[in-house]
Amino acid sequence: MSEISKEYDFKKVEDKWVGAWDESIYYFDWNSSAPQYIIDTPPPYPTGNFHIGNALNWCYIDFVARYKRMRGYNVMFPQGWDCHGLPTEVKVEEIHGITKNMVPREEFRRLCEEMTAGNIAKMRVTMRRLGFSNDWSNEYVTMDPDYYSKTQRSFVRMYDDGLIYREDHPVNWCPRCSTAIAFAEVEYDSRTTTLNHLRFPSPLGDLEIATTRPELLAACVAVAVHPNDELRRKYIGSQVAVPVFDYPVPVIADEAVDPAFGTGAVMICTFGDKQDVRWWVEHHLPLRQAIDREGRMTEAAGNFAGMKISECKDAIIDEMRSGGIIFKEEPLDQNVGLCWRCKTAIEILSERQWFVKIDPAEIVETSAEIRWVPDHMETRLLNWTGTMDWDWCISRQRIFATPIPVWYCRGCGEPLVAKEEWLPLDPNLTGPPVPCPKCGSDDLEPETDVLDTWMDSSISVLNVTGWLGPHEPRYPAQLRPQGHDIIRTWAFYTILRAKALVGTRPWDSILVNGMVLGEDGRKMSKSLNNFIAPEEVVAKYGADAFRQWAAVGGSPGSDVMFRWKDVISGGRFLQKIWSMYRFSAPHAVRFDDAAPNQVDRWLLFELSKMIDAVTGSMERFAFDEAFRAIRSFAWEVLADNYIELVKSRLYGPDGPEKRAAQDTIFKALEALTALLAPFTPFIAEEIRRNFSGESVHTASWPEPLGLEAQPEGVLIKEVASAVRRYKSDRGMALNSPLAGIEVYCDLDLETADLTGSTGSPVSVKRGRPEIETRAIEVRPKMKAIGPVFKDKSGEIIGELEGMDPEEVAQMVEAGRIEVDLGGDLVEVSPAAVEIVTETLSAGRAVDMISLDGATVLIGTGP
Ligand SMILES: [Zn+2]
Ligand SMILES: [Zn+2]
Repeated sequence: MSEISKEYDFKKVEDKWVGAWDESIYYFDWNSSAPQYIIDTPPPYPTGNFHIGNALNWCYIDFVARYKRMRGYNVMFPQGWDCHGLPTEVKVEEIHGITKNMVPREEFRRLCEEMTAGNIAKMRVTMRRLGFSNDWSNEYVTMDPDYYSKTQRSFVRMYDDGLIYREDHPVNWCPRCSTAIAFAEVEYDSRTTTLNHLRFPSPLGDLEIATTRPELLAACVAVAVHPNDELRRKYIGSQVAVPVFDYPVPVIADEAVDPAFGTGAVMICTFGDKQDVRWWVEHHLPLRQAIDREGRMTEAAGNFAGMKISECKDAIIDEMRSGGIIFKEEPLDQNVGLCWRCKTAIEILSERQWFVKIDPAEIVETSAEIRWVPDHMETRLLNWTGTMDWDWCISRQRIFATPIPVWYCRGCGEPLVAKEEWLPLDPNLTGPPVPCPKCGSDDLEPETDVLDTWMDSSISVLNVTGWLGPHEPRYPAQLRPQGHDIIRTWAFYTILRAKALVGTRPWDSILVNGMVLGEDGRKMSKSLNNFIAPEEVVAKYGADAFRQWAAVGGSPGSDVMFRWKDVISGGRFLQKIWSMYRFSAPHAVRFDDAAPNQVDRWLLFELSKMIDAVTGSMERFAFDEAFRAIRSFAWEVLADNYIELVKSRLYGPDGPEKRAAQDTIFKALEALTALLAPFTPFIAEEIRRNFSGESVHTASWPEPLGLEAQPEGVLIKEVASAVRRYKSDRGMALNSPLAGIEVYCDLDLETADLTGSTGSPVSVKRGRPEIETRAIEVRPKMKAIGPVFKDKSGEIIGELEGMDPEEVAQMVEAGRIEVDLGGDLVEVSPAAVEIVTETLSAGRAVDMISLDGATVLIGTGP
């Protein structure tokens, strides 16, 4: 065996294994009959930076993947990349100084693909450096034809099954991104706005209405009041004039109007909010679209046409103020819907878009078949499911995304949806192989809209379980790990799509992780200056230390604070393990015929108990519990106690006693490296390879040893550590011999390891020791005697010191001390002396230590 360095050099060890590991040991075996464990790994957006939130989530996944592999499962920990989307388009425009319309569509797509491929390459490096055991044979890239042909085929199948349709319907629209977005992509934020009170002229007298959006006057299609509103009932069925634009709209009755809010009458516009959409549908109102796709006023806005929404709002308020139409303005707190990507206030526009049908009952039913960890996270999905107002809008007006495989007949308008066998294709590059199915025309135009990126990522689970692949499919997957921020998108859509496409739940379990907070307790972000990159942590302390932070930082589901101190203590633990290994390496030898003594059996029982506990924690994804149990065993039980106890046997003559200790150390190290392998794969591998030559990552998870509790071993350990404390309290070297140790207890203790570890003769006796206490010295207290006896003090002290200590002790007991000063009896207070005693056992002076279950006597004199 080569020299083992004193300091653990994490950089050398980790760099070595990153380069040396054979990644094929992590590949999923499609032909294996072992129980499968397929993980529906989140495909990150390839920004080029694998951020710390990703890293936390991947640590959890890696802990599970490595653990399950060691338990004999056929594990798939695939890696996907969710490439499509607006951020990449924006970045490409920025880098190349272009807008997407300045270059041909295909060229723009190519630039996006090129940048994405570069970013993926960078992120792979970080993931390998962090020691993740990804199955790279099951990598997928959503922008590749292999993958997006599946997205397109899923579109065609759901269209054929009547689950996807195209319709003119109000949709959430981001004017900045200039695209439709789904409800799940709308975020709400409270803002203070102004409630304007205005007059709508009527022959019955002006009707006062209140609105926060006067710029939508041109989109007003009706005014509504509550049917029981005494004051305004008379207007129902009449017409009022829209101010500024001066056209008539009907006044309708609807119970959803709150008579106590504003003026009690509201204008219905197409569309100010979701309530407008409901009224518009229920009352069959006409459509007046005053805002266009870029967020500018349309021709319907008359003189205001062409203005931005905010410009129009200012101009129209000015005009109404000067015309006396606005008679009151008051502040109002309001929830405003924002685009989740760019935080622009969304509009609701009526657009012809593609939709996926949502069946809330089916989502709820399917979710109930899935184990949620932690279970309260399911409530988020159920609450969200209850708020669905309309179906999932899946068409987007962008470029870098999966094309919608559809053409439209220019003659009769009939859509032609591609057949599965034609896919993948981009209808903008490829014409349909058949004419219009309705009128036979060859003149068809392509769909230019593309699919929502969630259409790609919501079939990740089907892709990894082999849907439409060369192997027999293996859905459902066993685990979906993901953040709680995408429950209403990724989890929701995946459940919907799995049910629709293959008729089953997507996974057995979903493990939800929290977000990473900075050391200041706030969400980590570059602008708050609390941002940490995983690469920075790895460079300073190594991946194994970083991974320990992930393990102990918090339990899955709760937000986790990044703490350098967790990483630093992780580094310290690596050094502790290394030092222990360095000491043990020459001694760890397997002997099949080893006969463990009480101390060995105690260690093996503790090891077994720990294996049992860690296994239970891993099954519950309680990584913090699992790792703490391993660490406390390694540090406190093995290093601080067992090794100290058996050192003398290890350095002693060869024989059964020594071999038992060598074999026990071997077993402990073997199990410990296996248990550490999921958490700290580098140091676990380094140690295991050094002492057994095999990779710990192809080893099995240790089984509990099924041993009985070992009270004798526990007591020996307690006695040894009491003696260590005794020596250190007295400033004695730990190896300095004592005059003899007697242990009184009701167990038959073996003494060899106690003798060895204390460096002193040890005897064990039954029952309790017979103890007597004897006074051996009288110490007069000058402070108490001086003030009372003044110039006689010296004489009294001399006398006290000369008296028989036993006799003085009895006087103290009786409450008065009499001192004979040349015939005069002088009384001295018992508080004026201290009696020094010694403990005797069988006439020999000892110190006594009381333990739970034993009394220990340590000889102090001859
Ligand atoms: Zn936006
Ligand atoms: Zn046609």
